[in-house]
Amino acid sequence: METVIGLEIHAQLKTETKLFCGCRADSAGPPNSRTCPVCLGMPGALPVLNKRAVELAIRAALAFHCEIHPRSSFARKNYFYPDLPKGYQISQYDEPLASGGWLELGERRIGLRRLHLEEDAAKLVHQGGRSLIDFNRAGVPLIEIVTEPEVRSPREARELLQAVRRTLRYIGVSNCDMEKGELRCDANISLRCGDRAGTRTEIKNLNSFRALEEALAFEEARQRALLLAGREVEQQTLDWDEASGRAVPIRGKEEAEDYRYFPEPDLPPLLISSDWLEEVKRGLPELPEERRRRWRAEYGLPEYDIEVLTEEREIADYFEAAVRLFPHPKEVSNWMMTELLRLAKEGELRLKPADFAQILRLVEEGKLNRSAGKELLEECYRTGKGPEELLQERDLLQISDAGELSAVVSAVLAENPQAAADYKGGKEQALSFLLGQVMRKTKGKADPKLARALLLEGLGPNRT
Ligand code: ADP
Ligand code: MG
Ligand code: ZN
Repeated sequence: METVIGLEIHAQLKTETKLFCGCRADSAGPPNSRTCPVCLGMPGALPVLNKRAVELAIRAALAFHCEIHPRSSFARKNYFYPDLPKGYQISQYDEPLASGGWLELGERRIGLRRLHLEEDAAKLVHQGGRSLIDFNRAGVPLIEIVTEPEVRSPREARELLQAVRRTLRYIGVSNCDMEKGELRCDANISLRCGDRAGTRTEIKNLNSFRALEEALAFEEARQRALLLAGREVEQQTLDWDEASGRAVPIRGKEEAEDYRYFPEPDLPPLLISSDWLEEVKRGLPELPEERRRRWRAEYGLPEYDIEVLTEEREIADYFEAAVRLFPHPKEVSNWMMTELLRLAKEGELRLKPADFAQILRLVEEGKLNRSAGKELLEECYRTGKGPEELLQERDLLQISDAGELSAVVSAVLAENPQAAADYKGGKEQALSFLLGQVMRKTKGKADPKLARALLLEGLGPNRT
């Protein structure tokens, strides 16, 4: 039995205003404060298409290698539900903005069916036995990306959604903040036996990577058990109940005819000129997959480093800026991954790449040892001061002056005759102890290589 999965992914476009009116499209603001006759569905109110939303949808379609149609159109998708003030959603149906295309997943390519524009519905809030409606979200622009049923496992579905998120964030199309519902997905799954296709079920509104993977794993196991028992899978729409870890049926699957799709009479066809298309293309940055390929060739970094550092565009840009100033990619990567990203965990990368590169250079030149370098980096990060300024204020420069350091070494040897004798008697670890003492006396500022050499010189030959 083979698992067959296809996703329908919704992402909120990063526009100032809604898809068909001038109301703000952000989620801030008290409930129902961002509304007007258009997004409240008042009779006679007319939609006007938001050009920026179209541009962002085109960007996404280009990034996913879709064919973008010079002419597409809007349609009304009718259904009756309190979150839908007009009684229909304006979407695209038989003439979507874009079709075809693919997404890269490591070595695999997952085909896309279509990418289209649509408006979001309002938000229902169920509390204290009542249901409240917030229309702030009604009319917010979304793109829907529909994949081919080419995903083979719940794990792969998760990776696919992660790749979509990475790309959309990279190209500035959506923030994809899943906690705010800016990226969500419906997952379709069936099990194929040989060349006999199975009946599929659809799990609605999955809004975290974990929910997606767990819901699909649950449904995969449920369908498999049914089929192995010689029973049939029923075509259904399911809701994922996170608390119980079960997918529960909400209704029989609706068919396209249930929605009575028809052309939206209040909007003209959407025409995209080749000039505009070219202009949007020129504005597109290097995509994460392209960047990964280039880095593999250019920097020779381990795959893990490449994955971590290309996950967000800001971080990848930072890495490249730092490498230009300090051309040791692996060293830059190490310091970024262990130090900088740890500091920046909750915030942005406040340290300038030039200051970061300078600290690495000071370490490289032996003016700072590694631990002093880390300390300086943290200080710069927290205070916003440059490394030069802080070095003057604080006494961090490494002691690499042999004269100054041999005085310390002599003192350490005199104070620790036992350790010295142990070393001479063949106990290697005694040397680390003595080196530790030198570091302590210099508050960590001794150049470790030089200190070690001086110690060996002072100790003379050992027996081994
Ligand atoms: P609908 O019109 O019912 O929404 P579509 O044909 O547009 O159906 O497909 C919706 C989603 O279901 C797509 O992501 C597609 O890949 C997926 N899908 C289609 N057939 C199957 C199947 N047999 N098993 C799993 N997913 C499927
Ligand atoms: Mg569908
Ligand atoms: Zn409005």
